[in-house]
Amino acid sequence: MRTAIVSAMHEELSAVLALMPHESRQVVAGREFWVGQLHGREVVAVLSRIGKVAAATTAAMLVERFGAREIVFTGVAGGLAPGVQVGDVVVADSFLQHDLDASPIFPKYEVPLYGTSTFATDTSLTERLVRAAQQALPQAKLHRGLIVSGDRFVSTTPESRALQAALPNALAVEMEGAAVAQVCHDCGVPFAAVRTISDRADDDAHVDFARFVREVASRHSAAIVQALLG
Ligand code: SAH
Repeated sequence: MRTAIVSAMHEELSAVLALMPHESRQVVAGREFWVGQLHGREVVAVLSRIGKVAAATTAAMLVERFGAREIVFTGVAGGLAPGVQVGDVVVADSFLQHDLDASPIFPKYEVPLYGTSTFATDTSLTERLVRAAQQALPQAKLHRGLIVSGDRFVSTTPESRALQAALPNALAVEMEGAAVAQVCHDCGVPFAAVRTISDRADDDAHVDFARFVREVASRHSAAIVQALLG
């Protein structure tokens, strides 16, 4: 049973990699995959890079080349719903691509030929991730629900308001999760995702994001991953 730990950016994964001192590094499709053990479990850790296509390629490689039997994404996201603030934790129950629109042929947001706009995460892996996040970050407010993904860093208040109005159930926005969820659906591999909120996807997002990623993101990811695998 090999667990894959994925983040988009080095800042999100560096503390996890520090927990895997004896890993071996393999480069496939221009990505570095670190294969090793964490708390005695088989783990492969990788940076997907940013965006849906990069994330989908990474997920496919994890399943086909590295034998990943479950995939966990950990990283940061912008808060959308009113109560989702910087420092909160969001665990995904499902994902949707907020920038996918093949209307009028298919309903807005529907993934063509799949007959759905959302992909659910795996129930039991998600439960484990919720418990791990609660254990690792007991002070943080934890939310569970829909995360939306798109190839856009949402960083203006009007953009954020428009997304909230269009998708009122969306808790947070990021750029990779829905792609990994779709690949995992196709491959029948359990998927779960946790994001700490780095910014509110508003006019201050750029500054908040940079500070959070520099100071907090990696520690939070490592604490959650340790609790998950420990
Ligand atoms: N490195 C660039 C931009 C990073 S993109 C910079 O420094 O400006 C933002 C990354 O964090 C993506 O991987 C995405 O998944 C996540 N993210 C955090 N806040 C986001 C937001 N407001 N909108 C979209 N993605 C966000």
